[in-house]
Amino acid sequence: MKLSEPIAGIERGPAIVGSRVELQLLTTLRCNLKCSYCSLGVGEVLGSRRKVSYSLEALDAFIAKHLSEHEIYVTFYGGEPTLNLGFITAVMERYPAFRFQLQTNGTLLARLPDQVLAKLSNILVSIDGGERVTDGYRGRGIYRRVVKNIDAVRDRVGGTLTARVTWSDEDTTFEELDELTECFDYVYFQFVAQDGAYSQQAVAKKREVLSRLIDKFFSGKMLYPVIPIMGTVRNKVLPSRAQELYAGLTQCRVSTHILNVMPDGRIYPCPDMMYMPEMLQGDVVGNWLKRSPLQPHPNMPCDSCSAFSFCRRNCMKNLYLAYVKGADGYRRNVVEPICDLVRFLGEEVDRHDPHTWFASAPLPVRNTVTNCEAYEYVEIMP
Ligand code: SF4
Ligand code: SF4
Repeated sequence: MKLSEPIAGIERGPAIVGSRVELQLLTTLRCNLKCSYCSLGVGEVLGSRRKVSYSLEALDAFIAKHLSEHEIYVTFYGGEPTLNLGFITAVMERYPAFRFQLQTNGTLLARLPDQVLAKLSNILVSIDGGERVTDGYRGRGIYRRVVKNIDAVRDRVGGTLTARVTWSDEDTTFEELDELTECFDYVYFQFVAQDGAYSQQAVAKKREVLSRLIDKFFSGKMLYPVIPIMGTVRNKVLPSRAQELYAGLTQCRVSTHILNVMPDGRIYPCPDMMYMPEMLQGDVVGNWLKRSPLQPHPNMPCDSCSAFSFCRRNCMKNLYLAYVKGADGYRRNVVEPICDLVRFLGEEVDRHDPHTWFASAPLPVRNTVTNCEAYEYVEIMP
């Protein structure tokens, strides 16, 4: 079997692959910020629906029909999901055995009641790096407000706090990302999918910051909690972990077991592609579900890529737009530079001999690198 071959029969297989499923419930499409690169702005998805219009009885019936055999975890997503606290509370009360995660811009976090915070296994807080960059994209004072809110809720959150950094600015520094590892349990970064962000100079700067992050990861006995580096090391040292839970497909789960449920009940695999009719995968109201349409395609170059064993098709949205829809400018200006950075990340990790590092790491560090629950909540690869 070629490394890139999905598990046999996946094309005809069940709608959900594996035993777990993430229900990413969009509680609203409203947001209290106006981030300049927001992906929901594409196709005018953002702001188009304020409240959830399907009933919880419809959600019950959908779960009973399609997900009754699965371990379910819910991510509350938006817009800004905390703007519809009533829905969050109702879902938590109705499904007390589920695991819950919140994806938020962090600005309203301190207002959440204790009983909601206590039930969250993870909170993903969107941030753009340091204060200058975050305020530049999100508005003045946002960085400090978010950091203050993190301090205010830390002791009340049941699980972990993860910074979700969209790495957009070429001047984001190592120090800014490093500082986030002090306030959060984990830092996840993803390379922004934006034309114009990958000039030669911008790529060179990102490579330099990546090198320093990776140097720091390997420099001590403590875990340096940066998810894309942890995940890359895990995938290199324990290659089977790169495949389990995703049937060898992308680690952002869009090909296997994440369902983005729009406030009106329509279901899509990727939250950035909810404006594309061909991505419709199901409907809570109509109570139907099919396998994700976002699957590997022969035009995608991953089969012959040196990073494939650990990357496993980083972002299916990018690959689909660039190689299936034929968006050549997007391929040249966004997808190829990101893929180069992913390959660079792998090479830098190799330079530090991850197998030897892992063999001598303290057991708790090995356990977290191997099994970190946050891997289930983020895309792992940047
Ligand atoms: S780096 Fe790009 S081409 Fe290579 S496996 Fe990842 S997504 Fe595919
Ligand atoms: S990484 Fe996955 S979920 Fe994120 S934009 Fe790409 S395809 Fe969508």
